[in-house]
Amino acid sequence: MAVIGIDLGTTNSACGVLAEGEVTLIPNRLGEVLTPSVVGLDDSGKLVVGRTAKERLINHSDSTVAAFKRLMGTDHKVKLGRQLFSATELSALVLRSLKEDAEAYLGEEVTEAVISVPAYFNDNQRHATKLAGELAGLKVERLINEPTAAAIAYGLHEKREGNFLILDMGGGTFDVSILEFFDGVMEVHASAGDNFLGGEDFVEAMIDSVLREFELDRNTLTPRQLQNLYMQMETAKRRISQQSGQCLELELGSRKAEWQVTAEWFEKVSTPLMLRTKRPIERAMRDADLPPQKLDEVVLVGGSTRLALFRSMVGRMFGRLPSCHLDPDTVVAMGAAIQAGLKSRNAALDDIVLTDVCPYTLGTGIINQDSPEQGEYFLPIIERNTVVPISVVRRVWTAHENQTEVRVDVFQGENRLVKKNVYLGEMSVPVPKGPKGEEAVDIRYSYDMNGLLEVDVTVVSSGKTFNKLIEFTPGALSEEEKASSLEKLARLKFHPREDEQNRALIARGERLYESSLGEQRDYIAQLLGNFDRILEGQNPAEIKKARASLQEILDRFDGEDWI
Ligand code: AMP
Repeated sequence: MAVIGIDLGTTNSACGVLAEGEVTLIPNRLGEVLTPSVVGLDDSGKLVVGRTAKERLINHSDSTVAAFKRLMGTDHKVKLGRQLFSATELSALVLRSLKEDAEAYLGEEVTEAVISVPAYFNDNQRHATKLAGELAGLKVERLINEPTAAAIAYGLHEKREGNFLILDMGGGTFDVSILEFFDGVMEVHASAGDNFLGGEDFVEAMIDSVLREFELDRNTLTPRQLQNLYMQMETAKRRISQQSGQCLELELGSRKAEWQVTAEWFEKVSTPLMLRTKRPIERAMRDADLPPQKLDEVVLVGGSTRLALFRSMVGRMFGRLPSCHLDPDTVVAMGAAIQAGLKSRNAALDDIVLTDVCPYTLGTGIINQDSPEQGEYFLPIIERNTVVPISVVRRVWTAHENQTEVRVDVFQGENRLVKKNVYLGEMSVPVPKGPKGEEAVDIRYSYDMNGLLEVDVTVVSSGKTFNKLIEFTPGALSEEEKASSLEKLARLKFHPREDEQNRALIARGERLYESSLGEQRDYIAQLLGNFDRILEGQNPAEIKKARASLQEILDRFDGEDWI
């Protein structure tokens, strides 16, 4: 009996099967290999999945849900019609639809699957994915990490060994993973990313540029005009890598205008975004301690890596062309299918993750002065993909006159607006009455891999601290496990500025600053400023690296008797 491989994606899912050494992607009932990961109820209250549900997303948003993969492993429930569903149950509906399509295509019953998950998924999220499979009638003995699946699709597991960089840029996020393959085992060594960087940002940047050119504001366009503009720019973006010089007829408020989409314009508009993609790539390379020349392959995944500009930037960064001849939208499903084929011959590849990271951004709500009607803005405190355990503190000030209480809401998610993220809990702390902006609270989040979030709120003027524990899956941890987690987190609860090693290094830098002059003095000031910024980021791995490099430079200053 065939074992199928499934890519259960945030936006789209796909599945495939390995037969006689070849992967076949299985078309769904509409003949398409991509099935949108969207679930809804139709007018008669019947469940619909895939494209049919996606078509209803805009006009029937109350009875349609998408992007629920972001909620996997939480006990958050989503309302669909009159019923509440967990992300696991919604995923099960997508999986069941894929299973049925596979059975129709293969002409036999399918009872087993290998499903892919992001490398940064924790135990809860992995467990939830397996459970979704079981609810759909699929035995899931193995999951596969998405970057590993991409590497397998490119046949990299057939090499003897190697280091691979997998870049995955979809519609809204960018994920970077470094894999090391050795002795038949694929290890995920580093993962980094940007949760607010994907294909949609390029379209937004194009729209902003057009509106700036005509000195127009978004709200001078009707919703239909804005929607059209979005579609026109999306299409132009998809064509730009093949065709420069597209002429578009735009309807902007009361005026009509022509717009030339040239490669030069697109390059100018997308340069800031391209530069942002470099950061997580560099961070992952640093985290894995890997010089670029030790990299054996760069693999591109996700629709947005089709951009020629992105490909050439990656090419320039690494001095070689990335592997991109497979379809970036289905490469993960292909790899999962190969692993499924290997599994049915008891030859599945071992695939392990060596980094523990926080899978989603954790933050709080803050007053939105730009457009209060949209509700509060989200202030990220622990960023997604941060290596855990981690403890980060952010300061916020009172926003109203004579405020006597500060409410700290705890949210998880990636949206700029708080209301679009997942609510996890809240606490209120009393503050002394006074003019707005006078009182402040330090909000500290401490998080570890067991899914335990500790929130400490300290009123700055009184030094009083209030504390709350948030369990992502209540009951999942025993009392002893909880106590040991909390003890571990307690050790992290100081600002890295207070760390003895960091203080000593800064003091040494300051001594050198005082005793130097001119350019050297500026240089040292710049080094200390940089180090300070990294300390402010409160990311232990980055601080460690920055400390080592600052130490090395200061050693050189001291040793070479420059001063
Ligand atoms: P995914 O989440 O992987 O389905 O990625 C979808 C993203 O890929 C969307 O933002 C698309 O605009 C983008 N995309 C698809 N095809 C192209 C293309 N030819 N050039 C640039 N971006 C593309």
